[in-house]
Amino acid sequence: MKDQFRLEYDLAFLTSPAAAGRLSGTKDARKVADYLLAELDSLGFDSAFQPVTVPAARLTSTPRLIAGTQAFSPRRDFAELTAFSAGGRVTGQLLVVREDDLLRPEDFNGRVILLPERPQGFNLAETVKTAVEMGVAALLVEHGEPEWFHKTVYTGNGRIPVLRVKKSVAEKLSNMNDANVELELPLQHGTLPCNNVLGFLHGASDDFTLALTAHYDHLGDDPGGVRFLGAFDNASGVVTVLSVARELAKEKMPFNLLVAFLTGEESGLWGAKQLIANPPAPLSAVINLDGIGSESKLNALRLGHRQRGDPLAELGEEILSKHGIQGQWVGGSDDSSAFISKGIPTLGLGQQPTGQARSVMHTPLDTRESLYIETIRDGVEVLVEIVKTVDPKGLRRSLGSQIQLKEKNHVHTK
Ligand SMILES: [Zn+2]
Repeated sequence: MKDQFRLEYDLAFLTSPAAAGRLSGTKDARKVADYLLAELDSLGFDSAFQPVTVPAARLTSTPRLIAGTQAFSPRRDFAELTAFSAGGRVTGQLLVVREDDLLRPEDFNGRVILLPERPQGFNLAETVKTAVEMGVAALLVEHGEPEWFHKTVYTGNGRIPVLRVKKSVAEKLSNMNDANVELELPLQHGTLPCNNVLGFLHGASDDFTLALTAHYDHLGDDPGGVRFLGAFDNASGVVTVLSVARELAKEKMPFNLLVAFLTGEESGLWGAKQLIANPPAPLSAVINLDGIGSESKLNALRLGHRQRGDPLAELGEEILSKHGIQGQWVGGSDDSSAFISKGIPTLGLGQQPTGQARSVMHTPLDTRESLYIETIRDGVEVLVEIVKTVDPKGLRRSLGSQIQLKEKNHVHTK
């Protein structure tokens, strides 16, 4: 009973104004890391920070977009495309470009280009590259009609400012050809010193280590703007893993347990990559939690694994179905994919957000109020059961036969 209140307290703290959306490299993320470290410590885990250098894109102040006399609002009307965009300040004349327009390459030089429609087979990376080559000052690309533009913190080597603009804004702008545009995008690309939070619990045997992982970073604040609290993504996964750690710390496990709260997921899985490169013990298997509690019942869980037939994945599916939970095999690009790509048996658990839940992802609407705490509690229960059912011997044996099988196939195909 007491632990249930702990879970609510953890969730309230991780989604509180004090945590401010846990953006990697901020003092707010550090506050959360300190909290998680102290919790693991008090549970008897050997706990420590693991430094991680996180490449990321950051807004340093509020972006501005003004065309003629009309000012548009960041995140609502337009947003930065961090993976393709440089920061900078641009003034130039608007040039509206449609698919069949006949324009000479020199027409683009120094202009702010608006693409009010995406042609079929539109390739953003190629378009940006061509725009840079033609001397375009900045690029605005129509991008649907969301209530909020999703925030990303991916870095890249963009050369000019590149913005997504709302369809209705693009329509407005497309009647303003030749208008003077002022654009200020205070976007910085760089690396930030961050930390994974690790807790290690020795088991009866030292030759198998199961890692329970969840990223604690999210997207933070827009300077002078809205806050991204990241309740579903991924405060929910962190409190799930922490609650499971509380349950399991009371028992002597037959194998080592590593709890890892990872940083830098949002800008490219950097915490996971660092843990893979420098694990406190070789990682025998991983269970990663990313996003749980978006629906009122835990009736389906996403199993982010590349293929069935992995003994850990099979075990997970078996236990889910015992609880009447359907496992959906959906490949993801969360931390679990970093472990999978290194051949580590990995179960990636989370709810596949659908409908309304999907549209709140990476927006200011991903708040504590949008979560179902009962569903998270059910997730804790199921995860405890999965961990307790892991049989290192059986897992190793069937992994061994899988590897043998792979080798055989390999020889065969040669
Ligand atoms: Zn995310």
